[in-house]
Amino acid sequence: MEIKIARYVGFCPGVRRALRLADEALASAEGKVFSLGPIIHNPRVVEELRGKGLEILPEEEHALREIPLKGALVIVRSHGIPPSTARLLQERGALLVDATCPTVKKAQRAAMRLVGEGYRLFVIGDAKHPEVVAILGHVGGNAEVIKDTQELKEWWRVRAEKVRKVGLIAQTTVDLLMFRSLLDGLINDVPELMRELGEMKLINTLCRNTLARQTEALKAAFESDLVVVVGGRNSSNTEFLRKICATTGTRTLKVECAEELTADSIGEASRIAVLGGASTPASSIDEVYRKLAELSTGGSAPADA
Ligand code: SF4
Repeated sequence: MEIKIARYVGFCPGVRRALRLADEALASAEGKVFSLGPIIHNPRVVEELRGKGLEILPEEEHALREIPLKGALVIVRSHGIPPSTARLLQERGALLVDATCPTVKKAQRAAMRLVGEGYRLFVIGDAKHPEVVAILGHVGGNAEVIKDTQELKEWWRVRAEKVRKVGLIAQTTVDLLMFRSLLDGLINDVPELMRELGEMKLINTLCRNTLARQTEALKAAFESDLVVVVGGRNSSNTEFLRKICATTGTRTLKVECAEELTADSIGEASRIAVLGGASTPASSIDEVYRKLAELSTGGSAPADA
């Protein structure tokens, strides 16, 4: 059995930065240290930080009003937060440690610029994802979030006014297939919009690290007969990697940890690719590699990964 680990595995730069800031806050704080929501979408890492004293705050503003925060450090994770949430935390006496990824900040600035210039803003992504919630917060909710052409058509059907200028950005981690299909959809699925439009401005907010992982995932899927994608169940970029690999027809498994792999799940695969999401530690990838190697030798552990 040939097992290949992707080149782009381990934490992305934004996650590494957020974890470094969390460690520094935990080492220097005299009071409590919180993250607003789980600091990354990986339960194992979240548990490790909880062991070091990092507590998790609820993300809903009404719930935050109930929690004493005076003097506490609150880490804003890489997805960012709406300005209203930042104000609320500060009013309640918390000190913010801003771990918003610079790439996400670029998307927030792009959204504000487009709305400021009078464009009807479209955000390609998932309206419930915290990054998108934060982007919407930066433009006062003044945007349409679309994740498929069906939503685009629905927006067109119920829109209240003519649209002359459309501005486009994307959630930083959306997959290229979704991005392309939405761009196609704007032209092909609602051609009336193209007749109405005078101008369309796209600002590229896609994350380079994510794009590198997606490109590599597609190639790996074509060259393998099984892909194992390692990452948190609630990690959207991990799910996008799974979806990209699955489109090639290659069998694709998504696991959170090595223990989920069995001889049955591997089947007859002889060329296996191992990929990881942006919040998957390199140690989880190593464990998956070792487990696959162990299963391929019928149970005896390999010498080293
Ligand atoms: S995936 Fe990209 S945008 Fe998201 S935190 Fe990592 S580097 Fe930043």
